[in-house]
Amino acid sequence: MTFHWSLECSSCSATRDAQGLATVCPDCGAPWLVRYATYPGPEVKHALATRPWTMWRYREWMPIRDGEEPVTMGEGCTPLVPVPHLAREVGLRHLWVKDESQNPTGSFKARGLSAAVTRAQQAGATRFSVPTAGNAGVATSAYGRRAGIPVHVFAPQSTPPRILEQIRGLGADLRLLDGHIGDCGKAARAYAAEQDAFDVSTLREPYRIEGKKTLGLEIAEQLGWELPDAIIYPTGGGTGLIGMWIAFRDLRDAGWVGGELPRLFSVQSSGCAPVVRAFETGAERTSPWEDPQTVAAGLRVPAPLGGPIILRAIQETRGGAVAVSDEDLCEAQARMATLEGLDACPEGGATLAALEVLLAEGDIARDQRVILFNTGAGWLYRAN
Ligand SMILES: *Cc1c(COP(=O)(O)O)cnc(C)c1O
Repeated sequence: MTFHWSLECSSCSATRDAQGLATVCPDCGAPWLVRYATYPGPEVKHALATRPWTMWRYREWMPIRDGEEPVTMGEGCTPLVPVPHLAREVGLRHLWVKDESQNPTGSFKARGLSAAVTRAQQAGATRFSVPTAGNAGVATSAYGRRAGIPVHVFAPQSTPPRILEQIRGLGADLRLLDGHIGDCGKAARAYAAEQDAFDVSTLREPYRIEGKKTLGLEIAEQLGWELPDAIIYPTGGGTGLIGMWIAFRDLRDAGWVGGELPRLFSVQSSGCAPVVRAFETGAERTSPWEDPQTVAAGLRVPAPLGGPIILRAIQETRGGAVAVSDEDLCEAQARMATLEGLDACPEGGATLAALEVLLAEGDIARDQRVILFNTGAGWLYRAN
């Protein structure tokens, strides 16, 4: 069996082949990243025009071999929605929202889990465990179903009730814990060790990132292979931010795009902002946030495993990191709805609130092309 990719440690110099189920680097515990043998050539770029609109249209960029079928529900290829009313209000000429609520399962977690479940199925996984702030649990449950592999979800009791109902409805085994996603992560790993389950936590396996990488490929294609100036991303575990960074770098190195990489900005809630704190103090890694609290469930990640990679992505693209209050992100979420008809999740609202801070501080200029992210559906978070 041959693979056109291998795995490289994100921190030390370890490498390994792609055979079997991979977790983290055994030498240093840092996440593996996928490294492909070659970049897809211009003939692939031309072939895209005739392919179906799912993220698997980029299959030469992805961890899938000839003859393998992905576990898919048509995830990805979400619209880049122009938001002229918001643009006028904040004083920008070019502003879009990448609307990830239109994915299967209602959030962009679908991309990562489609890729991770595809690889784990090929490697013979027989059971999944996943800790979640909500949406990763839904996506793992759905893609696990499609792969015929049972799923065990560990979620905080405080998870929005509709998301918990969705997980139960998909037939997963759901355990609720009195704690945050870090506590759920410990429980999911303990369960995986005892029951021989495969743990698909953020960055504890290498392929969710590869699914999220398609965000960057797609944005480039949607803008006619011209990259935007800045992207504002609501950061929990950071997979999307890291994935886009890798995608833009690889597109440039492959000669598919030219110019500067987009500046990547991380937004977090001031109730849980480990990335912002590390960025502001110039640290190379995040330190755990005590007592994380925010209504934006996807941002309640006090100790992201990929902290050092997130910080590198922000620094190397000359981006930044901003914390906004829950009050401000909810208010911005409401404006996305009333001004543009977008039923954004609170995490999506955070990106608009952050844009206003970045404009006020002069970190983003008014002639720049900016993309906000709506990472999931707003209605999932409302009380029944
Ligand atoms: C998971 C999640 C996030 C954070 O994504 P990361 O890749 O973990 O940083 C943001 N918004 C929503 C709706 C999410 O479900």
